[in-house]
Amino acid sequence: MQGVPQPTREEVLKLPRVHISTHPVMAHKMTALRNKHTSSAEFYQLVKEVGALLAYEATAHLALEPWEIDTPLERTTGYRLAGGIGITPILRAGLGLAEGFREVIPDAQVWHLGLKRDERTLQAMEYYNQLPHKVDLQICYAVDPMLATGGSAIDAVNILKRKGIKRISYVGIIAAPYGLLKLSQAHPDIDIYIAVLDEKLNDYGYIVPGLGDAGDRQFGTF
Ligand code: URA
Repeated sequence: MQGVPQPTREEVLKLPRVHISTHPVMAHKMTALRNKHTSSAEFYQLVKEVGALLAYEATAHLALEPWEIDTPLERTTGYRLAGGIGITPILRAGLGLAEGFREVIPDAQVWHLGLKRDERTLQAMEYYNQLPHKVDLQICYAVDPMLATGGSAIDAVNILKRKGIKRISYVGIIAAPYGLLKLSQAHPDIDIYIAVLDEKLNDYGYIVPGLGDAGDRQFGTF
């Protein structure tokens, strides 16, 4: 990112459809997640927990449909989520976050997507794709912990849109102002849920203060 101008936090805080968690439990877990002394096992567990908290926030406006059931006493009308829910973890760092989501919505479909960027053409290269043929979702959540330059997130949303998904949200743990702006500009019609907004990208494209490489830290591959 050397020489590339980056927006400030204040500039992107005004963006519509960006939701940054204000939950104190999230702030507490984020500190443990950022700590370089946190072990991989603990780190993975924390990513799942943060994923569950983010899932709670990102599902707050889902549509419901009435659903008749019998309690032990009488028939009553409850509700259930209308249509299917999809989670698309961007491999491999999105896996822990997707697991956390599944704790909140166990019957969500998981659409794995492996993306690599061709550094020459800057085009998304799908090296793994488990998107189903049948699409019957109310919403699909693209999940990836670090919104750095925004490249993979933009590509993933493009792929989901091409698949015919009408409602898409992006869910991440930490965003850099640069990636947040790029994703919002490329896809102004999606909601973006993050736990925290950090300061900037360093010369190597890492978010600072950040937490390092979210994939390596989850899977112990240093
Ligand atoms: N991906 C990561 O895992 N960490 C960053 O800081 C940026 C991208």
